Amino acid sequence: MREDIREDVLRRLKSDFRFKERGQWLQQGTCPKCNHKEVFTSAETPWVVKCGRENKCGWSATTKELYPDAFGKFNERFPATTEDPNATADAYMAFVRGFTPSKIKGWYRQGHYSHPRGNRTTATVVFDLDRTNGIWMERLVETVRVTEEDGTTEERKANFVGPHKGLWWQPPGMAVEDGDEIWLVEGCLDAIALHMHGIKAVATLSCNNYPATMLDALTTKDVTLVGRWTMIPPARSTPRSISPGPTRKDSATVAP
Ligand SMILES: [Zn+2]
Repeated sequence: MREDIREDVLRRLKSDFRFKERGQWLQQGTCPKCNHKEVFTSAETPWVVKCGRENKCGWSATTKELYPDAFGKFNERFPATTEDPNATADAYMAFVRGFTPSKIKGWYRQGHYSHPRGNRTTATVVFDLDRTNGIWMERLVETVRVTEEDGTTEERKANFVGPHKGLWWQPPGMAVEDGDEIWLVEGCLDAIALHMHGIKAVATLSCNNYPATMLDALTTKDVTLVGRWTMIPPARSTPRSISPGPTRKDSATVAP
C-alpha cells in the first residue's frame, strides 16, 4: 500500500473505530455490527478490518469499501508524465485491482477518455485486441457520468472501440499448446487474474461473442474451452464444446 494512502486510511480508521495502537496492530475498535470493542486491523497493511468475534458476529470490511475515495483521485494523484506515460493506469491496476504492474508490463497501455456530455475526463487502461486496426477495450480509471440529451444519465466504466466480434484479448506471450484448457471470460482483468494463477484465459469482452476468428487462427485444434456461460458457435466455424467452468466458490480455491 502506498505510504500516503496508508497514512490517510490509518487516520480515518483511528477516528472512526477508536482503535488502540498495539505495535503493528490497531485493536479494540468498536464493531459497527455487534458494538463490541473487538475490531482489529494491521497498522502496516490496513487492507481488511475485522471483528474478532468471528463466529458470533463475523463483521469485516475492506478499507477500499470503507474509504473508496482514499484510493481514488488517480488522475490527480498519479498523472502520466513523459518518463512514465502509464503512471495513472499502473496506479489503478495496483491499488484498485491488486496487480503488480511490473509483472504485467506491456499488457496494457494508458489511454484517455472524454465524452462531449461527460462530467469529467479520465485516464484509461487500454487492452489492445488489434492495435493495427484500432480495436481495443479500455477500462476507465474513474467513472464518467454521461448525461444524455433527454436528461437521463449513465455511469460509464468501460469503452469499446472497433468491432471485437470473433476476437479475444489474451495476455501477450500466452502460447496455446495441444491439450490446453483455455478459459473464456468476459473481462481482461479476469483473464489476467486467472493467468496469474497459472490458468490460460482469454477475454471475449462480451458474453455472447464467440471467438471464432481467434480459434480458427490457432495452430492446434486440441483445446478445451472452459466458460461460465453457453456460447453457440456460428455455423461456419468448427463447433467446439464449452465445458461449464467451476462455480464461483470453486474458482476461489485457485487463489493463494
Ligand atoms: Zn462484531
